[in-house]
Amino acid sequence: MTSSEPAPVGRFHSGRMVDGIPHMLGAWRVTTEDEAVAGRVAALMGGRPSLVGTAVGGGSLEVLTERESVRVLLDGTGAVRSDLVFWRGDELVHRCDGVAFLSPETRRGQPCGCPMLLEDRKAAVRSKAGPAPRIDVVFRIAADPALGEFRFRTGSWKLAERLWEVEQALDGIDGQAVCDLALESVVYTASRGREVCYRKPVLTVLGSPDSVAAEPGPDDDAMTSPSPAMAGPDGPARALRPGGRS
Ligand SMILES: [Zn+2]
Repeated sequence: MTSSEPAPVGRFHSGRMVDGIPHMLGAWRVTTEDEAVAGRVAALMGGRPSLVGTAVGGGSLEVLTERESVRVLLDGTGAVRSDLVFWRGDELVHRCDGVAFLSPETRRGQPCGCPMLLEDRKAAVRSKAGPAPRIDVVFRIAADPALGEFRFRTGSWKLAERLWEVEQALDGIDGQAVCDLALESVVYTASRGREVCYRKPVLTVLGSPDSVAAEPGPDDDAMTSPSPAMAGPDGPARALRPGGRS
């Protein structure tokens, strides 16, 4: 999250803006400024590179892939970073881990006053009174690690609340970890029986490169089957707390 890090060769997106309105996608969208990277992503994940004038938060080439899941390599727990941020205009007024401030330096470590319960945190965001999750995942595509590092940024509560499990799993693997990064569909019945469908990003840690293939096998339907570890009900708001690994 610091500016001194090398820029990723491309970014993964779970949606796109259409006429200023965010739209979720059923498959990964990848943006890059590198033609070779765009071509390789299209070869690996389907779709084809197209020029986009001003891709928000990305490069000038875009690939609308055909894959809702991609097998990736993560370099330890440092590959996933998360915080809670609250912007007022251009000003970052609250940045914390859910318990204590992370910045500014003068307030670092002091209690930030965020509610403990996830529902209360969501309510605070809705009433523009509290911070929302910001998660960055840095990874390489397992089928072609030499392509370089990609980044996926999300504000998904669904991912935030299970992140402690991901971190715990990454902790248990020495060196690089093979994971599936997927856009999983969620269907629920809203008020008045209306069925609502959306996609949530899911990161599933599979194991080390010695034991897990760089591509899912023909019988390994990682595209659709939810991981048992990630399919649980909404957990408590402990995803963003250090030491919350029970
Ligand atoms: Zn806070």
